[in-house]
Amino acid sequence: MSSNQLSCKACFAHAKKDIRIDERVLEYTDEQVVVKVEAGGICGSDIHYYQEGHAGLSVLKHPMVIGHEFAGKIHKAPKNSNLKVGQKVAVNPSQPCNQCEFCLEGKQNQCPNMRFMGSAQFNPHVHGGFSEYVVVSEQQCFPYDESIPAQVMAFSEPTAVAIHAINIAGNLVGKKVLVMGAGPIGGLIIAAAKAAGAVEVVASDISERGQKIALQMGADRAVSPTDKAIFEEFSKNKGYFDVTFEACGASSAIASTVLVTRANGSVVQVGMGASPVEYPVAQMLAKEINWKGSFRFINEFSTAVKWLEKGIINPRPLISNEFPYQNVEQALITATDKNISSKVLVTFFE
Ligand SMILES: [Zn+2]
Ligand SMILES: [Zn+2]
Repeated sequence: MSSNQLSCKACFAHAKKDIRIDERVLEYTDEQVVVKVEAGGICGSDIHYYQEGHAGLSVLKHPMVIGHEFAGKIHKAPKNSNLKVGQKVAVNPSQPCNQCEFCLEGKQNQCPNMRFMGSAQFNPHVHGGFSEYVVVSEQQCFPYDESIPAQVMAFSEPTAVAIHAINIAGNLVGKKVLVMGAGPIGGLIIAAAKAAGAVEVVASDISERGQKIALQMGADRAVSPTDKAIFEEFSKNKGYFDVTFEACGASSAIASTVLVTRANGSVVQVGMGASPVEYPVAQMLAKEINWKGSFRFINEFSTAVKWLEKGIINPRPLISNEFPYQNVEQALITATDKNISSKVLVTFFE
């Protein structure tokens, strides 16, 4: 197994408010794949590493390449591989151990040894995809049609998160669905719920901009969570929605899911709520609400690539800005301001 080298530039988070374009040397074996990155999307964790130096409990201990949502082109493929040089690929950032009991049960999203790209959970950290080139395994690469822009396929990871949430909810055919929060994940859940056969999708978002995007993503109706009259109406007769997806993580939104969901309906929690929630436990048990958490994704990644490729999900309304990677700091600052930004993209085109 010979080792090869390649040097390139990448976006390294050094510490809080300290992001730099540094030169790096990549080492790879003949069995590994080198991808030339074309476009990536900024996600919540990238913003946290930049703004706070940590994402939840994952603290930056050394400079790390950020980014886990990205797509590119094959630069080097192993011999006898199905991948071809120049082929466009979406890259799955999750690298489960495939040996633990969860992996063996097919629940790789629960793998305690998961090496997720662009994550400081372990030390040394796992570098991410905001790099001119990345070294990955063949199994992480999902070829897609070259007519699709990399900016669209940069949504493969969050789309996989959305489709996993739909799978957690179960059969949506003919169901009435509420999606709380119309950020990138909420927006993709709206589109995925429609694709999965939901008969009515209502979106709730605090901003008019979010409501507009929700409609563009396919919602039948967009409302504000501050509109008391509407939510009282939704809460009548043991609730209106068969399934409620909570995708904003705000305490008040999380608590209200129980009121608007029908008896025996489901609440799928996708948004990471940071603060404590006063949860209406009595109502939840009396209405026999099925509360389900949804975390990352499993084999939904390949479905996400196909749905984006075939236009079953069109993520374009979620793109608010695009910056060349040299301006990654400006991209991160822009992405932090949720009043103006949904998904901010970083590009690596020459
Ligand atoms: Zn993400
Ligand atoms: Zn595992």
